[in-house]
Amino acid sequence: MTRDLTRLTLAAARDGLLAKRFSARELAAAHIAAVEQARALNAYLVETPDLALKAAEDSDARLARGDARPLEGLPLGVKDLYCTNGVRTTAASRILEGFVPNYESTVTAQLWRDGALMLGKLNLDEFAMGSSNETSAFGPVVSPWRRRKNGAFDDARIVPGGSSGGSAAAVAAHLCLGATATDTGGSIRQPAAFTGTVGIKPTYGRCSRWGVVAFASSLDQAGPITRDVRDAAIMLRSMAGHDPKDTTSVDLPVPDYEKSVGASVRGKKIGIPKEYRVDGMAAEIDALWTQGIEWLRAAGAEIVDISLPNTRHALPAYYIVAPAEASSNLARYDGVRYGLRKPGKDIVGMYENTRAAGFGAEVRRRVMIGAYVLSAGYYDAYYVRAQRIRTLIKRDFDIAFHAGVDAILTPATPSPAFAIGEKGAADPVEMYLNDVFTVTVNMAGLPGLVVPGGMSSDGLPLGLQLIGRPFEEETLFALGAAVEQAAPKIELPDAWWAS
Ligand code: GLN
Repeated sequence: MTRDLTRLTLAAARDGLLAKRFSARELAAAHIAAVEQARALNAYLVETPDLALKAAEDSDARLARGDARPLEGLPLGVKDLYCTNGVRTTAASRILEGFVPNYESTVTAQLWRDGALMLGKLNLDEFAMGSSNETSAFGPVVSPWRRRKNGAFDDARIVPGGSSGGSAAAVAAHLCLGATATDTGGSIRQPAAFTGTVGIKPTYGRCSRWGVVAFASSLDQAGPITRDVRDAAIMLRSMAGHDPKDTTSVDLPVPDYEKSVGASVRGKKIGIPKEYRVDGMAAEIDALWTQGIEWLRAAGAEIVDISLPNTRHALPAYYIVAPAEASSNLARYDGVRYGLRKPGKDIVGMYENTRAAGFGAEVRRRVMIGAYVLSAGYYDAYYVRAQRIRTLIKRDFDIAFHAGVDAILTPATPSPAFAIGEKGAADPVEMYLNDVFTVTVNMAGLPGLVVPGGMSSDGLPLGLQLIGRPFEEETLFALGAAVEQAAPKIELPDAWWAS
């Protein structure tokens, strides 16, 4: 009997290991082989097979002793924005050339504490700035999905979304059982939607940001991308928790999220915000949304219309706040403290040469926008106004939740995935528009879960988003599992990428 251990969910792999149906070593080896055969997707920037096999042996010893930890022996991928002790960390940027952290991010340390093992570091948009993984200094990630025209696949290479494109592609293509990701303005949820995977951005403060390369610190959150809702619940439980090293992480107990999967959603009040029906939204996205409403209604939820009137200001405000914080966070890459250094005639020349050579076009654009909106004379007009809008967006959600809404259902993205090179080349705003449904959640600090809902007419996955009250991820897991139950199963094309 041939069994492909890469086809398992995280939960099934966990149960299989405990039942001794296969070993952690076999599970790791199957994934290492899959990763090697999938280099055409460019999902992994760094592969760490030796570390994985060594950890698998330790896991097998523990399993044999009956001393298994919650994630014992489960192979994961790590977005290359998380610092990993002794393993090259790039943030997909040339400026970190040669950077090998001598510390481990809190979130990954917690995953290893619980017995998971690392297969390698996953590609992303440079410094997590992007929505298609095309801004990576190491080339775009190719989605394992293919577009269909008149029943036949076309040749276009499809983006996996971004910035966590490597995480989403690796999970979708069975190159790991689950992956860490980060979300500043949609970077977990939009790639999950584009690849038919599940992603949750937890409430701001739920996971520690310590050791995760900073983009926009007031918006950044860690979270998992997995193949189903249960797996996301399992991973988040290990990733979440208070960390004295991140003062914005919250000291609240971490629930056993897996218990919420399959819980009844009867009587839950689901808000449908009319402002999310935006201009230019594909008709099939609208139809999917209607479908999602019906699924939740059939599961016993109560559907109510709500209004989030400041929604249309969220995207422009996000693209002021995020670059402002980025310009400040990225000031540390000066050729002195980390990675790349390009000599110059004096120290300022060295800074200039290093930053010009080390940052890609999108990162430079963000740094310039950020410096501009923070500069004297423009600060009040742009940055302060954007922060005020942020307060209004948060208030819109507060009003809805105060009126008894338990969660809000929206589409995840205004369109399905597109081809590499198809969007944003002439006008960066075209790319930013991808984030119209996701940035509101970061601006308000709320949890957001994306689950697959169906397929586009050209054969690509479409996702639905559930937005929850602060620290009520459990409600999202229950509702997400109900949508997952009702939605048609979507089938990835055969491993056409395998070498
Ligand atoms: N696409 C958004 C941006 O480019 C979000 C990125 C993210 O969430 N890291 O800023």
